[in-house]
Amino acid sequence: MGCSAEGFAAALRSAAEVIAEHRAELVDLDRAIGDADHGENLNRGFAAIVAALDAGVPQTPAAVAKLAATTLISKVGGAAGPLYGTAFLRASAKLGDAAEVDAGQLVEALRAALEGVQARGKAVGGDATMVDALIPALSAAEGAAGGSVAEVLTAAAGGADRGAESTVDLVPRKGRASYLGERAVGHLDPGARSTALLLRAFAEAAR
Ligand code: ADP
Ligand code: MG
Ligand code: MG
Repeated sequence: MGCSAEGFAAALRSAAEVIAEHRAELVDLDRAIGDADHGENLNRGFAAIVAALDAGVPQTPAAVAKLAATTLISKVGGAAGPLYGTAFLRASAKLGDAAEVDAGQLVEALRAALEGVQARGKAVGGDATMVDALIPALSAAEGAAGGSVAEVLTAAAGGADRGAESTVDLVPRKGRASYLGERAVGHLDPGARSTALLLRAFAEAAR
């Protein structure tokens, strides 16, 4: 079974709850190697997405993803807003006008999201950013593409968890944390952590 616009909206609502629950954790991670606003930034953005969905759920999964994108881009300053906004925008473009998204389409959307983040932020794997969560998330999702939407998202979330954890040992080369260089080693990247949280929330919502 595929995922409808209502399913996408429900997943975004779950994501907003998870981000609200982890707001302080994300702020603390960003305080260590950045400017202590990542949890606030994302919480503001996802609360605005929920408000927009309350006003009316768009007709297609692509339109829901586009609503998330434009909301994040307009409401979230800093690095993460435009990067996540681009991810949802590229995913939206990939989904076309389908009423239901299947597992294979979801993998394609995730690939487009990763490519969008990399096009916008120029980070590659190993730079200690959200890209380090997204790359293994996509690999794991590809491995599960023959299964259900929930299986794809569960695999992606597992990959993102492992990828986020890998940032602890990396020297950041993009974003604010790169200003610290070697001194940032030993710290989890906040954006990689939030990517893992978002994918876990989507996976739970799809079950
Ligand atoms: P800011 O650093 O502007 O305060 P946030 O704190 O909201 O923005 O987001 C920081 C996160 O954004 C980082 O932890 C990292 O994962 C991600 N990030 C920053 N720059 C880039 C980039 N060029 N490419 C990919 N991700 C990036
Ligand atoms: Mg910050
Ligand atoms: Mg900031």
